[in-house]
Amino acid sequence: MRTKSGAYYELVEAMSQPGCPICRLVDRAVRQYVDVFFYENITNVERRAEIRAARGYCSAHGALLAGHARMLGVAIVQHDVINDVLREMNRLLPEAHARRLWLIGASLRRAVLDAIRPKRICPLCEYERDQERVLLHALTDAIHDELLRRAFAGSSGLCLPHVQILLQMRGLSTDRLRLLLQIERDILTTLKADLEEYLAKSNGSYDYRGMGKEADSPLRAIKLVSGRVLGRR
Ligand SMILES: [Zn+2]
Ligand SMILES: [Zn+2]
Repeated sequence: MRTKSGAYYELVEAMSQPGCPICRLVDRAVRQYVDVFFYENITNVERRAEIRAARGYCSAHGALLAGHARMLGVAIVQHDVINDVLREMNRLLPEAHARRLWLIGASLRRAVLDAIRPKRICPLCEYERDQERVLLHALTDAIHDELLRRAFAGSSGLCLPHVQILLQMRGLSTDRLRLLLQIERDILTTLKADLEEYLAKSNGSYDYRGMGKEADSPLRAIKLVSGRVLGRR
């Protein structure tokens, strides 16, 4: 029998919680990564160069830093980025008395845009992407396992962005993928029925009997349809 990986148990546990299990685990992994980075790896030259080249983290991941306890690390990283951007801008926008030709119009715009624009993907988006693939592989590999299959069938399902990522991954068994998609289809069907119940009960002419499990279906639908996949798709 195949040894069950850490990802397997994490998935089963996440499936007992609300929302897409991949979104939940990826979110946790990113937060842990940020904690470790700002506490232990802030002096890592290679990581710092990546953040500089990315012109900092994307908006969604940048927002994670605002509440972070390690403001010293945040200051170091942001200083790196701003210093690099300013070096370029100072080169492109010399002081008025300098005897250099000013770039004008479209050339100036293009040059400043090049200076500010990220040269690589946000490092945290990249980390998320790796984590998603590991988890989606683990999910598909174990979908014939009774415990995991049941846990998935009883879960909120994968968000649609994660289904898209799954479908673009190579090396997955068609047989396993089909089973996974059938379960996902059943989850979507149940959610659709809940939304219809919600809509019917929200209609003024309906003989109101109070809301049941459909009460939070619009919120569940937001998570399922939009997920939390960030920045690059
Ligand atoms: Zn998701
Ligand atoms: Zn990002």
